[in-house]
Amino acid sequence: MSISIGTTKGENKMPKMLPRHGRIKNIIGVISGKGGVGKSTVTGIIASKLAESGYRVGVLDADITGPSMPRFFGINNQRAEIIPLGNKENEFMFSPVKSSLGVKVMSMNLLSEVEDQPVLWRGPVINGVLNQMFTDTAWGELDYLLIDMPPGTGDIALTVMQSFPINSLIIVSTPQDMVSMIVKKVVIMAERLQVPVKGVVENMSYIICDNCKEKHRVFSKKSAEEHAAYLGLPLIAELPINPDLAEALEEGRTETYAALNPVYDALGARAVR
Ligand code: ADP
Repeated sequence: MSISIGTTKGENKMPKMLPRHGRIKNIIGVISGKGGVGKSTVTGIIASKLAESGYRVGVLDADITGPSMPRFFGINNQRAEIIPLGNKENEFMFSPVKSSLGVKVMSMNLLSEVEDQPVLWRGPVINGVLNQMFTDTAWGELDYLLIDMPPGTGDIALTVMQSFPINSLIIVSTPQDMVSMIVKKVVIMAERLQVPVKGVVENMSYIICDNCKEKHRVFSKKSAEEHAAYLGLPLIAELPINPDLAEALEEGRTETYAALNPVYDALGARAVR
């Protein structure tokens, strides 16, 4: 017996949604098979690097139930404005919150009153809200919109891949066979839905020892190239486990830390090349 995700190759014929208040040149989805591998962190790093290079950048936090982009950008105390358009109750647009480098961020956590309140909605409602966050945000002119995708191959990820005009997907993984196996499901899903995949970012690849300054691959003896080959994807970058990054996140200064750190230069450049 074989169980599939219910889509066959070539079945991505759904009409694509477009933002109503802006023009976006490139939409890049950042996705992983499973939570906690650093998908949001990688999204934030790429956005920070692109903004630092002078591009006009936006971030849509499509991880509705686990939104973390406001914290990355240190804007979690701010709220997105809801601007009425005309007199009709359901006619409005969201004004995204701008980070210190000018990244326009839209996230469920910028709409909810209290940051730690859970979203207790079922799939169709989440899908509806997410669609609105994409189409009804005042993005303006953007060179890149990065979408921090929900983890996994579930309902929401499926909707985003089918109905958002994504130009390329970046897959985030960690060097563990179990994670690679789950990530491969995302790769196959993207292939079936005919969404082009740019490559894989291997996060937490190694740690540099404070004393001997050597790289230690703590999770796997295999190289990042070997893991990428298993996924059948080009390797975009391998990133270290970086305690300074985690500290920057806790202090709400990750954006400038990432933008100015040369360790992330290759990721920023290759993500859009
Ligand atoms: P995901 O979006 O895949 O669920 P996150 O990006 O939220 O994962 O990362 C999970 C946690 O791991 C966060 O606290 C983040 O700061 C931390 N983290 C991610 N990547 C790294 C890294 N390379 N070095 C140190 N901490 C990291």
